[in-house]
Formats: sequence, structure tokens, C-alpha cells
Amino acid sequence: MADLIIRGGYVVDPSQDIEGTMDIEIRGGRVHRLAPHIEPRGRPTLNARGRIVTPGLVDLHCHFFEGVSHYGVNLEASMLTRGVTTAVDTGSAGSQTFPAFRSGFLDPARMTTRAFLNISAGGLLIDGLGENIDMRALRVGDAVDCYRANRDLLLGMKVRLSRNVVERSGGKPLDAALDASRTLRVPLMVHVGDTPDSLPKILKKLRPGDVLTHAFHGRGEGILDRRGRVRRAVWEARDRGILLDVAHGRASFSFDTLEAAMAQGLMPGNLSTDLHTHCINGPVYDFPSLMSKFIALGFPLAEVIRLSTQTAAAWLGMEGEIGTLRPGARGDVAIFRLREGRFVFTDSEGERRRGSRMLEATRVVLGGEPLRPSGKDKRRLARIFR
Ligand SMILES: [Zn+2]
Repeated sequence: MADLIIRGGYVVDPSQDIEGTMDIEIRGGRVHRLAPHIEPRGRPTLNARGRIVTPGLVDLHCHFFEGVSHYGVNLEASMLTRGVTTAVDTGSAGSQTFPAFRSGFLDPARMTTRAFLNISAGGLLIDGLGENIDMRALRVGDAVDCYRANRDLLLGMKVRLSRNVVERSGGKPLDAALDASRTLRVPLMVHVGDTPDSLPKILKKLRPGDVLTHAFHGRGEGILDRRGRVRRAVWEARDRGILLDVAHGRASFSFDTLEAAMAQGLMPGNLSTDLHTHCINGPVYDFPSLMSKFIALGFPLAEVIRLSTQTAAAWLGMEGEIGTLRPGARGDVAIFRLREGRFVFTDSEGERRRGSRMLEATRVVLGGEPLRPSGKDKRRLARIFR
């Protein structure tokens, strides 16, 4: 396990209310201490002068069942090199495909990885064919058995409820997912956006600890009523402890929705990318691009970092372990250049907002080991940040 001193960076760790220039000492792969000046005494060092240094990012919604699910992106090239050190796959695999997902992707990963289990037995396999259209795929018993056998890596159940995913199955996929998650006493992550059922009806069925993902989408059955006011059921859900997760994705994030909600005091509970093959070349690109988008929307830097580290770690029950630079935490660190310039950000609806700052991951440290983006990634970074 690695020792490392990260020197001279501008450290932002909202979990400890830390914002300032300091050194970080990592011993045996874990954070040992933060101090204004730490003598290297022959140990390896990483110069972070002029850079922003944060806990490794925690992405609560992404897809990395690469080559099997049509959504899957490469875990390391698309996430680790961009500062993400904990990745949670949300329902790419179901009970029938999870063993292969586990042995091929979760077990071998260098990063911290977790997953939600899709209530549909195959998971997200076929592009253009919703996994809940054929209800014979909703196998509650198989999901429960699979979950019990893989409890160490699973966080909860996942169900998608958009019209094109459920078609004539109506409320049955949600009921099946609720049945499994209640039997197991684990959280349920519900994907919304143009759902045939009304959002208040869906929210009423959720419990504290469940996740409403794609909460700020701009499609039918959203968090706003026809007059643009946050619906009462949404306030109630938030107050009951249901996490309002961003999960930007291809079709699931609207500047107009977020700005209207914020103007009424409703803030996102967590930032996540929903990174997958259909949004990696825009409008999401990567986690730092999403963070930059929220900076452009007026979120303070420290708040954006909090919503990209601490909130997901807390929801995962891993506070003190990830999403923080507290002594004893994993030595997972993201290092960014904050570029100044004129940038245009696009949401899932094609709306645009201007910004003047862009975070670009330059280095990532995993368990005290510094990594460097490969040449291929650098080319993509150049395209994103042109
Ligand atoms: Zn997703």
C-alpha cells in the first residue's frame, strides 16, 4: 500500500469544511493527515501547486457493463481518469446477468465499485427494446436470490419507468421492484422521465432512503406542475428522506427545470452523471464537465464538490471511508485544473448556458497511487475542452 505526499494544492474537502492550500500525507494507502507543510523525508511526492485537490469523486449513477449492455462505458478510461474513484452501476445487470457483471467488472476493478440490481432479469441489454416491456422478465424471486448472494456489492434495486421502457406493463415493473426491495429491506432507485404513471403516485410508494434518479429532467411527469411550481408530492418526498439525484444522462437533465426548482428553494440532493455510451460524447462527457455545468449555474465550487463526494458517500453509508480526506479514509484523491475561459454548456433539451470556468481532471490518486490519463484520453479531453 502506497505512501505519498501531495504537495501545495488548494484542498477543498467539504466533509471537513476545509478550503485552503495544504499538503496531504497518505500512508499505507490511507489519508494520514493534512497540514500546511509536510516534510517528504524521502517519500514519493506529487506536486499539486496551482491545482484544486478534492476527495476522489463518487458517481452514484453510471453504467460500466461494457460490451454487454449497450449503455456500458469503460470504467477506467471514462471515469477513473476523470477523478472518479467510486462508481455505482445502476441496473445494467439483472439477476441473470449479474454473475458475469460481477466476475468480469466489479471484482477485478481497482476502483471502489458497487451496483444496483435491475428488477428485469437481463438488465439493460438491447438498445431500443425496453427491459420491462415483456413482463416475463420481471422475476422477483430470482432478483431476491441474486441479491442475497451478492449483498457485499449491491446497494439496492433499480427500476426504469419511462413510457418507452414499460410500454403496456403499466405500474407492474414498479410493483415488482418494490416487492423485491421491501422483501430484502434495501433501497429502490426509480428512474423517472415521461412515465405513464403520475409522479406523485410513484413518489407515494417510495420510502426514506430510496432514490428518485433523473429528478430534474424536462420531460413529461416532472417535479414541476403546469404553472412551474414544485409539486407538493416532491416537497413531501424530499422531507421524508428520498434522495433527489441529478443523473444527467442523454435525456434526463433540464436547466429550466433545475432553475425553476432552485428559485423555489428545491436543491438537488446529489450530483451524478448517468454516464453511458449515448451521452459520453455530449451532453455529459464526464463528471468534471457535469461539475463545471453546475458551477456555471451559480453553485459555489465547494458546494459542487460536496454534492459530488460527500452526499453520495453518506447515502452509501461509507462516510469516513470515501468522499472525504479525513484521516483514515481511503487515499483516493482527485486533482483538477480550473480553466478560465468562455464555455458553453448544453443540457438534455438542447438548452445552453454560458460559463467561465471548467474543471479538468489532471491526476487521480487511488489508494495513494498516482495515475495519469493515457494519451487516448488526453485527445478526448482536448475535444471536450476546446
Ligand atoms: Zn442510467
